[in-house]
Amino acid sequence: GRHQIDYQLTLQGSALGSLYFWRSYRFKEVEMEALESLIGSLIYPLRNATLYREAQLAALTDPLTGAANKRAMDYQLQRDLSMANRYHQELTFLLVDIDHFKRINDTYGHATGDSVLKAVVQRISRCCRSSDTVFRFGGEEFGVILAKANLADALIIAERMRMAVAADPFICGANRIPVTISIGCAPYLHDEPALALVERADAALYRAKRAGRNRTETATQAEKAPEPHGAEQAIRA
Ligand code: GH3
Ligand code: MG
Ligand code: MG
Repeated sequence: GRHQIDYQLTLQGSALGSLYFWRSYRFKEVEMEALESLIGSLIYPLRNATLYREAQLAALTDPLTGAANKRAMDYQLQRDLSMANRYHQELTFLLVDIDHFKRINDTYGHATGDSVLKAVVQRISRCCRSSDTVFRFGGEEFGVILAKANLADALIIAERMRMAVAADPFICGANRIPVTISIGCAPYLHDEPALALVERADAALYRAKRAGRNRTETATQAEKAPEPHGAEQAIRA
């Protein structure tokens, strides 16, 4: 037969999980006492480890959309760029910005704007490979690191994203809201600093906006971001 003991681990009202022990013969009383004493010592470090993991995750996640945040993007970009340098791999960075998002807020309200942001993240995330992450870069702007992707691969993904957003209006309550995105696409130049890569994507995004939005533009090698703080400010100015 099978002899099993189950422990539900709970500390100050919060459930930490379950532990199961089983074997083919009975547990003795003295063995169970030893197990319980071990679990007693385990439970506080386990709770601390869980809290630490939650805090770490929260520090890297955007609470509205559930996407990874700018800080997570900075870490990831450093890691991926050093891999790309070391192994001479290609990498392409996309900067995605929702077109005329302010109008959506102004027309339907901020709460609906929030729902659209979440839904856009879902649609564009589905267009990436499983290894790619969508980061919330700023308000209605998202960064996507396409590791091991050359320009041609990246343009296919960018176009998929653009169409996934534009294809169908977003349904929010009784409203059907058409949304489009513009994308700046920057293939990584060997040994380029992360900031320069992001700035080139921003400059390409700025051109996509100027050219009428709902489109993707590719960064040139020499491109510099429009001063002082990127596409958004330059358009507003
Ligand atoms: P463009 O096509 O040039 O990008 O125009 P835009 O209206 O999208 O750009 P703009 O920078 O003028 O406006 C961005 C707006 O995004 C303004 C800001 O209130 C809104 N926004 C930023 N973060 C959030 C958010 O978390 N929720 C909501 N609902 N709106 C946000
Ligand atoms: Mg915008
Ligand atoms: Mg923007």
